[in-house]
Amino acid sequence: MQLNIQNLNVSYGNIKALHGISFSVAAGEILTIIGANGAGKSTTLRAISRMIPCESGSVMEFNGRNILKYSADKVVSKLGISHVPEGRRIFGNLTVTENLTLACFARKDKDQIEADRKWVFDLFPRLEERRHQLAGTLSGGEQQMLAVGRGYMSGHQMMLLDEPSMGLAPLLMLDMFDALREINKLGTTILLVEQNARLALKFAQRGYVIENGSLVLEGPTDELLDNPEVKKAYLGA
Ligand code: ATP
Repeated sequence: MQLNIQNLNVSYGNIKALHGISFSVAAGEILTIIGANGAGKSTTLRAISRMIPCESGSVMEFNGRNILKYSADKVVSKLGISHVPEGRRIFGNLTVTENLTLACFARKDKDQIEADRKWVFDLFPRLEERRHQLAGTLSGGEQQMLAVGRGYMSGHQMMLLDEPSMGLAPLLMLDMFDALREINKLGTTILLVEQNARLALKFAQRGYVIENGSLVLEGPTDELLDNPEVKKAYLGA
């Protein structure tokens, strides 16, 4: 397994957000964790990208390396794990190109950076059209494309995606997931957390269900889509 998480415990002060969760992701896989608002999805991604600390006893390994030995910036630059957070967090007063360039601050491979930028523009032609525009003036969907493009350019061994569907009109949502599939086809492993369970389960190969900070179900996504409990709680059936 490329990513191995065992007994991950995270608290915010007195609030216990993750109760010793364990899961793994294979290289090249698309894995999703679905769950309700506040279940612990974003916290899981933040712990992996080292934006928040986890409690002792938690194990996190990537390609056999101990993630806990890496700082947040080194998780990106040395392990190649990028995190596209909920709410995009792009730099609104910088242009599209500047946002993409900034994502590569730790990279030295100039030719590859140029090739990656071209690839991102091929994937999202609207970004290329707007490359000189300030990111803050883009539509919500375009900002989401930029956030994903920026994530890809900063590290593409694995991408941690937090609700990439949020705020997108249905057609744009489908475009976004098509683009994510293209990214995955080039070899990037994807860990996606989503409240839009149907979309996420159709996109991923395997899934977990998180409830109140614990993983309660796991399986291939076609089984989860058929599971009566999942249908009732998450698919509105
Ligand atoms: P959402 O889709 O709303 O982001 P989520 O599944 O990602 O939901 P988390 O954001 O991981 O859930 O939150 C898990 C729990 O931790 C919730 O009880 C939440 O209130 C709490 N929590 C999250 N962030 C903080 C924080 N910065 N300070 C205190 N508690 C937090």
